[in-house]
Formats: sequence, structure tokens, C-alpha cells
Amino acid sequence: MVIAIDGPAASGKGTLGRRIAEALGLSHLDTGLLYRAVAARCLADGTLADEAASVAAAHALDLSTLDPEALRGGEMGEAASVVAARPAVRAALFDLQRRFAARPGGAVLDGRDIGTVICPDATVKLFVTATPEVRAERRYRELAARGAGTSFEDVLADIRVRDARDSGRSAAPLMRADDALLLDTTHLTVEGVFSEAMKLIRAKIGKV
Ligand code: C5P
Repeated sequence: MVIAIDGPAASGKGTLGRRIAEALGLSHLDTGLLYRAVAARCLADGTLADEAASVAAAHALDLSTLDPEALRGGEMGEAASVVAARPAVRAALFDLQRRFAARPGGAVLDGRDIGTVICPDATVKLFVTATPEVRAERRYRELAARGAGTSFEDVLADIRVRDARDSGRSAAPLMRADDALLLDTTHLTVEGVFSEAMKLIRAKIGKV
């Protein structure tokens, strides 16, 4: 079984993916971390503007060395969306994601193009969304709780820039697959999102 979850920045798809994977005993891959890791390598080397360097970093990526904590943060998300707009970077990360999805026992992958490009035959596809203001509020609280000195306005501006770049790019733009189930989390808690998603999954596969 493969569950594909897509949605814009800070829509809660990462948390949701983790919860669903735990509940169903599946492996989970937050594919945003791949683009963040490529961006982190480029930022460290001062090569963010160098397409060839970002493609080389994508080819060299090793899943076992990803450090989610070190890759969080708005600056990394912004840089990730820059490298993610390059078709050659996406191509370099394609096989790794496909192999993960083919793991025996099944997998949950979340990102921007999972239902459309990486796993077009996924068992269940969810498209998770919420208004930019609500997503910014959630991300702002998360950052404030960790002591990051950023303002709500800055977080909202970052989300709007990333939404525009992720939806407007020509390479695998953020898009709801025709057969993806829509989950609007604007008025839901984390728990509510999880329980709605499980309802949709059960209705789709008729068990679990
Ligand atoms: O989901 P997250 O915010 O960690 O993703 C960071 C960036 O990586 C996104 O803004 C997007 O540009 C890119 N991304 C992507 N395709 C994916 C996952 C993430 O283009 N499947």
C-alpha cells in the first residue's frame, strides 16, 4: 500500500504522514527533507545559484544521513524551493523516492508531486491544504516555541513566496492530482486532521 500526501508549505502534511505511517505500520518519507538537504549542501558550499552543483548534491544524497532537525527552518525551506524548481535536481531524486515507495510493506510519502509524478498509482492520495494565514500561524507558533526570533508577517510572506514558486514552476508544480482526496485543515486540530484522514483512507480502501 502506498499513501501519497501532497500540499503547500506548512499544511501539516509532514505530521499527518508520520501519524498515518505509525497507525498503519508503513515506512514514512518526508520528501521535502530531500530538497532541504540538497539546499543545505549548496548553502554550506555557497553554490545555491549553481545548477550543476545542486544536481551533484542531489545525486550524492544519502537517506541515512538526513537530519530533520538541522533541516527545518524558513531559510532552508526557501532555498529548497529554489533547487526544487530545477528539473535536473528533481530527476536526480526520482529513483530514490520511487525505491522508497516500493518498500515491501508499503510506504507513506509526503511532498508536492507525490500523487502526480512520483506515485501516480498510489493506493490513496490526499491533498492537504489550509489558508496561507492559518498555515503561517501554525508555523509561527512552532518557530516561536523553539525561540526563533521571527515575526508572523515574515512567516506569512515566506509562505506566500514559496506557494507562488512551488505552484508556478514548470517542473512538477504543486498540484492536486485528479484522484486526490481533498483535506482542508483550516478549521481542524492536528488530531482532527489525523482522524479525518483516517476516515478518508478507510473509505477508500474499505478496511484498516
Ligand atoms: O515540505 P517542505 O516545506 O519541507 O519542502 C521544502 C521545499 O521543497 C518546498 O517548498 C518545495 O519547493 C520542495 N519540494 C518539492 N517536491 C516535494 C517536496 C518538497 O518540490 N515532493
